[in-house]
Amino acid sequence: MLKIALSKGRIFNETLPLLAQAGIEPIEDPETSRKLILNTNQEEVKLVVIRATDVPTYVEYGATDVGVAGKDVLLEHGGEGLYEPVDLQIARCRLMVAAPIHALPSRGRLRIATKYINTTQRYYAEKGEQVEVIKLYGSMELAPLVGLADQIVDVVDTGNTLRANGLQAIELIAEISSRLIVNKATMKMKSKQINQLIQQLQLAVNKTHEKR
Ligand code: AMP
Repeated sequence: MLKIALSKGRIFNETLPLLAQAGIEPIEDPETSRKLILNTNQEEVKLVVIRATDVPTYVEYGATDVGVAGKDVLLEHGGEGLYEPVDLQIARCRLMVAAPIHALPSRGRLRIATKYINTTQRYYAEKGEQVEVIKLYGSMELAPLVGLADQIVDVVDTGNTLRANGLQAIELIAEISSRLIVNKATMKMKSKQINQLIQQLQLAVNKTHEKR
């Protein structure tokens, strides 16, 4: 049995064509099915639908053998117990610091709102800057508008959301894309099956980028 953890939405939609090239296709539609474990055309392979931020945890504990997670989620999780063998080059974006367009230079300690508190604390610690990090669960763009924070750390794609809220990206923390992650023990125990999946997915990624 091979269980693959995926989150609904962009990651699911962009991973499916790569899995199809590796010969794995779900026989149930996650958008209409309420099931969280989906059967595939291969009896031995199941897709497990999980919230994006929980994917590394399921793989770390071996509840699923492999998963697909954004690098932003992996940086925040820490990546213990996980291998990251394939950059699937999907769901690309950038983890950025953003500030109000007309912000005045701040006096004193900056307040930064984010859902990426570990990554943000690490980033400023490495720069030797003392900041106050405020944990939010969503709509980070709102925080500077209402005086909760001076700046935010969030993933940015087109930048439209920032612009619509009078913010601009000012620093790049990391380039983000989704990765195949593998439980370290599974890598040993199911090495043949996992290595085959790794090779097929890498081939599918290479083909997709050759076409472009
Ligand atoms: P944008 O295109 O920059 O306006 O992004 C729209 C919203 O989607 C923003 O709030 C981002 O936080 C979010 N977003 C963009 N790209 C990704 C991604 N690859 N993964 C997760 N969230 C994203």
